[in-house]
Amino acid sequence: MIYIGIGANLGDREKTLQEATGMLNTNPEIAVIAASAVYETAPIGVVDQPYFLNAVLQVYTSLSARNLLNCLLAIERKFGRLRETRWGPRTLDLDILFYGDTVINRPGLQVPHPHLHERAFVLIPLCDLKPDLKHPVLGQSIQFLTESLGTDLPVQKIEGLNLIIKNKTRRT
Ligand code: ATP
Ligand code: CA
Ligand code: CA
Repeated sequence: MIYIGIGANLGDREKTLQEATGMLNTNPEIAVIAASAVYETAPIGVVDQPYFLNAVLQVYTSLSARNLLNCLLAIERKFGRLRETRWGPRTLDLDILFYGDTVINRPGLQVPHPHLHERAFVLIPLCDLKPDLKHPVLGQSIQFLTESLGTDLPVQKIEGLNLIIKNKTRRT
């Protein structure tokens, strides 16, 4: 199973998450299966920037990890993302978190995402979808990794906001 992290901290963040999810799902090679709740999270790295909305999507795809990444980067560009500072503000960020149990360490593509185990804004939404998912490198479950971060995490569930996934005939 493949998991994608989605985040936005500029513009209409809610609309961006919803539209990007829809756009991903219109690709005939990709089917969005489920979405976590949406969370508001404090920025990391560059802290002097607006709060993010973050969620995690579970998808099926017939694309390779590399081609999936290219598709995610193309969607980011459609939302007008300017790649200026790493960890800086952005209209949309789409990261491949897991591609099944596949481990990839290539220039420009690391899977599982190299920071996911230390990021509450990724682990907490992943817990909504698959708490018993095992990290293929660390060998620990998402639930365990989340608990390892301690309590009082800077991640707040937005009640009543759910990403809508249109049903589509599965081809993948
Ligand atoms: P971080 O990767 O720490 O979350 P970021 O999302 O801000 O930081 P970006 O500027 O969005 O970083 O991406 C920089 C590059 O990371 C992308 O151009 C892409 O080639 C590369 N990259 C490597 N592994 C992945 C992955 N699993 N998912 C998405 N991008 C990846
Ligand atoms: Ca990211
Ligand atoms: Ca990214």
